[in-house]
Amino acid sequence: MGKGVSGIGNRPNIVNQANLRALTKVQRKIAAQDFESALILNDRGRVLAKLDGDRTEVIFTPEFMQQLQGKNLLHNHPTDLPTAPSRADILGNGLTLPKTSTIVSQIGQKDVMTFNENWNRENSQKLAAQMHLPTEHYRTGGYRRDVRNDIANNKLPNMTASQFGNLSPTQIKDFIDRQVAERHVRDIQNILRNPTWQQRYGFTFESTYIPR
Ligand SMILES: [Zn+2]
Repeated sequence: MGKGVSGIGNRPNIVNQANLRALTKVQRKIAAQDFESALILNDRGRVLAKLDGDRTEVIFTPEFMQQLQGKNLLHNHPTDLPTAPSRADILGNGLTLPKTSTIVSQIGQKDVMTFNENWNRENSQKLAAQMHLPTEHYRTGGYRRDVRNDIANNKLPNMTASQFGNLSPTQIKDFIDRQVAERHVRDIQNILRNPTWQQRYGFTFESTYIPR
């Protein structure tokens, strides 16, 4: 990576291949975990702090949040499904504004949000509110109307009525939950990919995979 590449906008200033390799290694390591971790990285990809949680949550301590200000957050969501930053990842405690926020999943998917000078507490709250809508919909409604229609019409991908007949109720529920989770992530990613919101709130979003 040439010198000219480093320091563009607010992207991490990862200046050489050794740093990039070390960063990729850290990302792969936490992506493989079955529990959540949160790490603070400097612009060279060096780990400054690390917290471990359980399968569904890692508690960000006040000390951690204080240290995160202006640094880079790396965090994992242990699932073999596509994933996306959650409202909590974007909102933080509202006082801490990281430079970048990266979420990796067990399939190696990597969602990177990079925040620019327009990103502030108010914008983070507004964006989290946008994301609140689909999240609450899934929680309170169970399944969205289009998912329910697809279930009723046997239109879920790779699933026919005869296949359902061979599955236990638990397997059917797991399958439908998976469909719902995938659509949920797609909805969140569509919000984060929206150029209008990116410009208005002051961030970019990129979803790729960790290089092998
Ligand atoms: Zn998270």
